[in-house]
Amino acid sequence: MKSGDLFHNAQELMPGGVSSPVRAIRPYPFYTAHASGSRLATEDGETLIDCCLAYGPLILGHAHPAIREAICAQLEKGWLYGTPVALEPALASRITGDHPAMDMIRFVSSGSEATMAAIRLARGYTGKKDIVKVEGGFHGAHDAVLVQAGSGATTLGVPDSAGVLADLVAHTRQVPFNDLEALDALLAANDDVAAFILEPVMGNIGPILPDDGYLREVRAITREHDVLLIFDEVITGYRLGIGGAQVRYGIEPDLTTLGKIIGGGLPIGAFGGRREIMGMVAPAGPVYQAGTFSGNPASLAAGMATLGWLHAHPGLYGRLDAATRALAESLPSRAGSFVRLGSMFKYFFRPSPPRNYREAKESDTATFGRFWKKMLDLGIFLPPSQFETNFVSAAHTESDIEAIAGAYAACL
Ligand SMILES: *Cc1c(COP(=O)(O)O)cnc(C)c1O
Repeated sequence: MKSGDLFHNAQELMPGGVSSPVRAIRPYPFYTAHASGSRLATEDGETLIDCCLAYGPLILGHAHPAIREAICAQLEKGWLYGTPVALEPALASRITGDHPAMDMIRFVSSGSEATMAAIRLARGYTGKKDIVKVEGGFHGAHDAVLVQAGSGATTLGVPDSAGVLADLVAHTRQVPFNDLEALDALLAANDDVAAFILEPVMGNIGPILPDDGYLREVRAITREHDVLLIFDEVITGYRLGIGGAQVRYGIEPDLTTLGKIIGGGLPIGAFGGRREIMGMVAPAGPVYQAGTFSGNPASLAAGMATLGWLHAHPGLYGRLDAATRALAESLPSRAGSFVRLGSMFKYFFRPSPPRNYREAKESDTATFGRFWKKMLDLGIFLPPSQFETNFVSAAHTESDIEAIAGAYAACL
């Protein structure tokens, strides 16, 4: 069946026809039949160069042979036991070894679950009620973080979804990214803040890059006010290098959330941090957290293979960075702005790179929509939103990058 018919049928069976809202492209999304390397093959017989890469996990591209082999080897041995498995301490050792700020880690099944648990843990450890997040920062689809952006630092959070209690998100305050004064003022005025959670590089509205010294000052301010610092590195973990943003920028958060790349394309999440804090997690301590699929062997095997491959190929990050630099240099200078960091990139339809959510929202999304469609017509699949990061993977060849650059030039 072709994509249009599949979607027509799916809309009868599933809300909006999809399993996650961003996939509901109009008039209908293409359906993927199979994928390999940098390419997606659609049910309509087209082949596309993929710069969406499942929104982040696939740093080695689709169906990477080393990961496929690891998953298949695990499947031979069964794929869910409900008991501990040797892969858990193995991946835990690998990840904590790569992150000086992580002594211990708990595996869960998604990034959302990781941030939900990290927030509960921060509250349980500190005994304080409120959390602070960044406007437009994305931490998954659970209640505490579904707060409308732009509600301001001093007002109470307003739900960003029906069904989220205003009483609950009243405990979620927000500050703009790259605004140290707002953070300092908020923490000075409120001594009931358990944690400040942020993406060190905003990946779900851009990328938006931290100003020089911003993260260092965030660390100093949170420490001064006795507030835990949670880095949500679900996108940036192993994306900005081994050890993610925290190693790249030399910051030690109290807690870290991971997901995406550490599962090699299978479902995973994790949270970790200082031993003293992680010791509060059940059954070692009183903060409850549990899951049927937590630490599932197939995800762990895919994660081990991915991180092993990244360690064995230290030149990869430089190659990915060179690829987005080549893209940047090839673009005609126009009204928009190209932002990139390592393998993350985005063209914003606004004159200068945004520094926060409000600036990002000034982008011309109607023009983005037309541009996105033209890129697809030229065989390049970008995330279907002005506010989702584009990626390149290890599987993208120089000729892929040239094709992407050529399409950008033509469409812009
Ligand atoms: C993707 C993402 C999440 C949510 O992860 P899921 O696995 O989709 O639940 C949380 N935080 C950040 C920064 C993310 O990019």
